[in-house]
Amino acid sequence: MLEIKPTETVNEGSIFGQIIKMDHEQLVICNDQATGLKALIGIHNTVLGPALGGTRMWPYASEQEAITDVLRLSRGMTFKNALAGLNLGGGKAVIIGDPKLKNEAFMRRFGRFVESLGGRYVTAEDVNMKTSDMEYIAMETRHVAGLPEIKGGSGDPSPVTGFGVYMGMKAAAKKAFGSDSLSGKKIGVQGVGQVGKYLIEYLIKEGAEVIVTDIFEEKLREVAKATGAQAVDPNVIYDLPMDIYSPNALGATINDETIDRLKCAVIAGGANNQLKDEDKHGKLLIQKGIVYAPDFLINAGGVINVGMEYLGGYNREIVFQQTEKIYETCMTIFAKSEKENIPAQQAAIETAKARIESIGRVKLPF
Ligand code: NAD
Repeated sequence: MLEIKPTETVNEGSIFGQIIKMDHEQLVICNDQATGLKALIGIHNTVLGPALGGTRMWPYASEQEAITDVLRLSRGMTFKNALAGLNLGGGKAVIIGDPKLKNEAFMRRFGRFVESLGGRYVTAEDVNMKTSDMEYIAMETRHVAGLPEIKGGSGDPSPVTGFGVYMGMKAAAKKAFGSDSLSGKKIGVQGVGQVGKYLIEYLIKEGAEVIVTDIFEEKLREVAKATGAQAVDPNVIYDLPMDIYSPNALGATINDETIDRLKCAVIAGGANNQLKDEDKHGKLLIQKGIVYAPDFLINAGGVINVGMEYLGGYNREIVFQQTEKIYETCMTIFAKSEKENIPAQQAAIETAKARIESIGRVKLPF
């Protein structure tokens, strides 16, 4: 007879050990010899609804790296979607390999895998995915969002993300300076890509003194010229005195190396996973008196956009209204953080978990 061991005896490094530790419902491994597709779909939690989160394609150095990434990212989506007030759970997919491998057959095969989950997982764009890839996926499944407007989708989510980051930044300014006005504030924006460029427009319009940086020199010069912002070298951004540091490029920029260099009162940006070590660096920011606006809370505009596309009845105005609420949610999170003397990131996760738990009492997972 098959012996079922109690979960405590599961090895932490095993697949089950890892998904138990991260509290996942499901990890799906997809393999297709014909197209060379190797993908992982992580479904973290579906209490609130189908698990929505983008697909990332990356040449991971090992299978373990891909597993770690999909588990971490899908868990983050659960909290992001819950806090954004969406009736959606958290999931994410990663495709292992060089993005050059992508073609119609490859993406449609991935679409079949998404379809095979019967709507438990809904995909969208993430790193190295384009709207054209979403169109191929949509040929095989309706569980995809982020399609171009001409195909009945909601189009580029970045303007909404930029607006949400702006709202979160204003809330953090209110907490730090007593006023949410950004007029005259010195703000360093790292990354002038899709999110950064929309954010900068709001900041300049409000009269902030904006400093911008990017490793893509040509784009940096272009944005600085178009907006009147001051361009600086990517290496100096951490050392410049400023009121607000806004990371909108890559993750983990708040780490052992940068934290003592930062001379700001607020950190508020759109990049995912800004704290290298959530617990350690979150606590250090409190000690340094820096107000930190949790990344997954203030960059939720994009998922609000694609979520509404998927759930139906998409309306751009309502999407912006829903995204504006990020301001109020931030204020609630800052109040909890102060009252309980816990990092804002922790306060945000606890608030998201509380919503899921209360709904979970009256509803089974999707
Ligand atoms: P993007 O690729 O359009 O822009 C990123 C920019 O950062 C690029 O211009 C790149 O050259 C620059 N960059 C990279 N490394 C840098 C460095 N070391 N220093 C300075 N600049 C650097 O990406 P995006 O869509 O604007 O997304 C930015 C961040 O926001 C990412 O972390 C992304 O995961 C997150 N995010 C984006 C959305 C969205 O709607 N686009 C939604 C949620 C979260």
